[in-house]
Amino acid sequence: MVMQLKAEPKAQAVIIEKSPLLDLIIIGGGPAGLTAALYAVRSRLKVLLIEKMILGGAASTTFSIENYPGFPEGISGLELAERLQDQVRRLGLDILWGNAISVKKNKQTFMTQVDGNILSSKAVIIATGTEAAKLGIPGEEEFRGRGVSYCATCDGPFYKEKSVMVIGGGNAAIEEALFLTRFAAKIAIVHRRKELRADKILAERAMSNPKIYFFWHSVAEEIKGKEKIEEVTVKDLASEKKLKVPVDGVFIYIGSKPNSEPVKGLVKMDQKGFILTDDNMKTSVNGIFAAGDIRAKTLRQIVTAAADGAVAAESVKNYLEEVSK
Ligand code: NAP
Repeated sequence: MVMQLKAEPKAQAVIIEKSPLLDLIIIGGGPAGLTAALYAVRSRLKVLLIEKMILGGAASTTFSIENYPGFPEGISGLELAERLQDQVRRLGLDILWGNAISVKKNKQTFMTQVDGNILSSKAVIIATGTEAAKLGIPGEEEFRGRGVSYCATCDGPFYKEKSVMVIGGGNAAIEEALFLTRFAAKIAIVHRRKELRADKILAERAMSNPKIYFFWHSVAEEIKGKEKIEEVTVKDLASEKKLKVPVDGVFIYIGSKPNSEPVKGLVKMDQKGFILTDDNMKTSVNGIFAAGDIRAKTLRQIVTAAADGAVAAESVKNYLEEVSK
């Protein structure tokens, strides 16, 4: 029996005395997984959600979400995540804290390995999202946690009146650069093209902010320092000129890579490892569904993740009815 985990005690192990055959295992507790859980529990499916870190996913580290419908003033990622958690906990969702290592198919059943335990279910929804891509330049790994960060919401307050650099030109880079203006004195954005990928409204805000300045057509080549970061070598791609830019911190936002390891070799993926699905979130394997940022799709947003989760849960319900005939 899977014990229901009560509220916060993340470190507390869930006791699995004897794993029953569940209807559904959802891997990942971001907006996609939690929304799938919401629908699945309301459909009275026997469902277990597995999460290795924190509920809310990447969205929970976003300072302010301004494009989720129904929140005209915006809402913090943390608050949205807490509200979602509250909603599923009220419904009595079972949550298992652990790392889902692999999913294997055994006839009509799926065996999910979570750390040392094997759990079985009739269907699985993969909602494992993505993780920050790394630049792979000298100094990035060495100064990780000592000046190199992938989370401005977490580390921004350490840079009061300091100079920081943000690398990337997408929504994440620009949103987080704007967040950093609350603390830092100067924010350099290094972007490899002349045009930002971020939404126009964010780009306009960044370009009119006096604390933010840009290195266009440029890439960061090396992060240097002794105890802490002292400078970043920035190369102008047009002139090939290199500049040493003195900064105290570097925030890297150059996109993300999919956490699709647990189903690698099992379901079809695109070249980058994002899972291919149809409109009903079905993967290439009957009984396995995918939802949220892990899917190969064009718009990765909280609202699309939530929508995917709802569709995936509905598809699972239909699938279970189908196989039980
Ligand atoms: P993204 O949209 O893929 O943008 C990545 C940025 O990094 C791009 O500007 C890209 O340059 C640059 N880049 C990629 N590889 C690089 C490299 N090796 N060296 C230097 N620069 C590199 O990624 P994201 O901003 O992390 O966002 C991920 C997804 O989440 C997106 O779908 C995004 O819309 C979504 N998101 C949405 C919001 C929001 O709506 N408020 C907030 C955060 C994230 P190029 O432009 O030249 O390709």
